[in-house]
Amino acid sequence: MLGRFRHVRLWDRQLPIWYDAEYRLPLTAFGKRTGLEPRRADLVAWYLLEWRWITRDNLRAPARARYQDLARVHSEEYLESLTQREPLARIFGVDPWDVPVDELMRTVRLGCGGTLAAAREALRRHGAAVNLMGGFHHAGPAHGSGLCAVNDIAVAVLALREDGFAGQVAMLDLDAHPPDGTAACLRADPRVWIGSLSGSSSGSIAGVDETVLPPRAGDESYLSALDALLARMPQPEFAVVLAGGDVLDGDHLGHLGLSLDGARQRDLRVARALLGIPAVWLPGGGYHEDAWKVLAGTLIALLRHSRRPIRPGSDPMAARFARLSTRLAGAGLVRRVQEIDLSDIEVDLRIKPGPKTLLLGAYTAESVEFALYRFGLLTFLERRGYGQFRVEFGTGTAGGERVAVFGRSEGAEHLLVDGVVERLSVGGEDMLYVHWLSLRDPRARFSDRRPRLPGQDVPGLGLAREVTELLVLLAARRGLAGLAYSPAWFHTAYVARSRFRFLDPLQQGRFEALVRDLGHRPLALVSQALADGRVQMDGEPYAWKADLMVYRPAGEPDDREVVEAERDRVAFTLADEAGGSQEGDPPGPRGV
Ligand SMILES: [Zn+2]
Repeated sequence: MLGRFRHVRLWDRQLPIWYDAEYRLPLTAFGKRTGLEPRRADLVAWYLLEWRWITRDNLRAPARARYQDLARVHSEEYLESLTQREPLARIFGVDPWDVPVDELMRTVRLGCGGTLAAAREALRRHGAAVNLMGGFHHAGPAHGSGLCAVNDIAVAVLALREDGFAGQVAMLDLDAHPPDGTAACLRADPRVWIGSLSGSSSGSIAGVDETVLPPRAGDESYLSALDALLARMPQPEFAVVLAGGDVLDGDHLGHLGLSLDGARQRDLRVARALLGIPAVWLPGGGYHEDAWKVLAGTLIALLRHSRRPIRPGSDPMAARFARLSTRLAGAGLVRRVQEIDLSDIEVDLRIKPGPKTLLLGAYTAESVEFALYRFGLLTFLERRGYGQFRVEFGTGTAGGERVAVFGRSEGAEHLLVDGVVERLSVGGEDMLYVHWLSLRDPRARFSDRRPRLPGQDVPGLGLAREVTELLVLLAARRGLAGLAYSPAWFHTAYVARSRFRFLDPLQQGRFEALVRDLGHRPLALVSQALADGRVQMDGEPYAWKADLMVYRPAGEPDDREVVEAERDRVAFTLADEAGGSQEGDPPGPRGV
């Protein structure tokens, strides 16, 4: 063994990585509730590209898995059921009307195709290959659950068998949940060993070497259980590693309590144990805002065998959007005088006459639509069933400039994005002030799963992060110090809290206390309670005020002491605390 280690490099810069922008599920309802980040694959690919762990040459595009491949694992009745809304809605924990069947199955089959292609490539190169989606280990031969519609792992193994590969397979399922579906799908194959390390058990699963760790086991006991599992693993000729992201401490659905470094050590130990062995690595679950960092860490372990942490405070989407914006600006200046683009330079230099109305004195309606296309928002809207987009400018009722984006669906035109912005002086600096921003999915409906938030007339689009990023860029391009707005509701402040803070440090302190004291409750419930005056601060009724929140890319003012003193001084409670029926979250998906 030692001899082999001496000759095989621990790092692998040519690591092939399967990825597609359409790995993002075309669903809008569940992210907030489960902590599932639908952009995980994007964030990981962008992080690795942006900080030069990989180049574009590492990325491979998947093809949709063929029905022939799926049918080796799943019954035809079951596969046929996946062409209907209701079964898919049950598997993904959303309402049936919320399921765009074709687009959802496109994502499912792309993810499965990625795992299959990665498996073949791993065998060909006698090393590792990664798919940034997959590990759907709850899908069985004739049923799906927990976000798993088809079992990509079993589909890949049975396709390799069909290709003629007869060797020993090892399945290392290191997701926080046990591999019930995979075990059921591969029961008949005597040369498949399944080892599982999880934090919850649904009863022992036949044919699985299963270790169930106690809640919040932590790094040390997890890693020693892993070492024991690796010691029991039969020497494989092909391996699948489900490097679950839901092992992280604070995960909504996993309870193992690992640190990011603990998860990285897991991956380094497995990578070393599988050195020179064909192995497919898959992300599995992950229901924590940092779950993408586990997956990025898995890739760093494979690419460089490194324990270097993910850069603190790094935001791959911000980095990605800023880069695109810079590139577009350059292209606009040099080559695209006659074309539409994001650039305001043409107008400023009067290369061509500006149209009658320009947003913020610079942007045409065409440039707004082009930006929405270029940053991926129109593609997502198309997957949600909208098309024939139109951007219109106007005036806000209380001042400011209005931007409206319309899209057509089923013969009618719908308002999808409605925003009012203005250049204003805030706290002594020129900022882009957002009077109003509404991201609307008018064809969606409210339900128990998707409760109406105060102020909403239709459900949201799930694109707030992207649109905020665009506004940040817009402000920067106009030379403004940042963004400002006045959240009329608690939930609009809550979703922006990672970047925005209240201008008034006392208000910021109270807001942080609110999140601390009531943040574990459903967002809609807390926001409604604040709107109704049913929240108390230190026993007295507390009214939500739409105070100014700001985001300054240049940094925050130095007032943490004031913020923390106020945060620690006050305590919030729900006035009708006794109402037991309001406890708990609405029904949601179980998770991968
Ligand atoms: Zn899981």
